[in-house]
Amino acid sequence: MKIEVIDTGFFYADGGAMFGAIPKTAWRRRYPSDEANGCVLAMRTLLVTTDDGRTILIDTGAGDKHLRYLSYYRFFNLIDLTEALAQRQILPGQVTDVILTHLHFDHCGYCTRYNADGKPVVTFPNARHWVSQAQWSNFLTPNALEKDSYFPENILPVEEAGLLQLVTEKTALCPAIDLHLFDGHTPGQLVPYIHTPERTFVFAGDVIPLAASLSPEWISAYDTYPVTSYNEKLRLLEQAAREHQAILFCHDAYTTCTTVKKTGKSYKSLENIQA
Ligand SMILES: [Zn+2]
Repeated sequence: MKIEVIDTGFFYADGGAMFGAIPKTAWRRRYPSDEANGCVLAMRTLLVTTDDGRTILIDTGAGDKHLRYLSYYRFFNLIDLTEALAQRQILPGQVTDVILTHLHFDHCGYCTRYNADGKPVVTFPNARHWVSQAQWSNFLTPNALEKDSYFPENILPVEEAGLLQLVTEKTALCPAIDLHLFDGHTPGQLVPYIHTPERTFVFAGDVIPLAASLSPEWISAYDTYPVTSYNEKLRLLEQAAREHQAILFCHDAYTTCTTVKKTGKSYKSLENIQA
């Protein structure tokens, strides 16, 4: 099995929003920001090729359909995910599975692209797209706070093509990958646990987007249910520390993957891991 991190691009998020109630005097020591208080965030995709012939993508970045509308986020160094796959001799039709941690625009944008007629069509026509039932329901009838984070054209063509695979409980996608469910940031986030002979990698998505978010109470203002985020983070981190799992951060522009250790009531990065 091979695991590869692909950075699909970067954007600026407001530091105050990223760290919620934590004052800047505290977070500035753990995450840099510019004069406009913008923090550079990555949008990581994971490419996993398994021994049983699967080619799996985990999250697909913001894509290229809404960049002008989203210009507030100052995107830069964007790549075309299909070109990045082509460089690795992978055609879109060869992707067997796309795991979507959730359906906010910065995680599922490349699931569709505009064709010559300006119509959104699926990018990976043979892939099962794994989404939790809870996240799908939340997407179909979004609450007022998350409504602007969802773009129907990112995912409705996937459903119309019959490629949506809804998950209601912890599920084994294949022998090497389990999908766990976590709430908080948004309902029913899928967190893939990828088991290799050396260790288990946890693609934490927006449950723990940055290494600085390892502190359980460092919760983003984008989280819809912050108390739930706190409890869910502890659930993830307790197991990760106990079992020496490596956490992959989808949004941290400076730290990609670390093991974690418990320090009193909090958690810290222990060792950088090459994924
Ligand atoms: Zn999100």
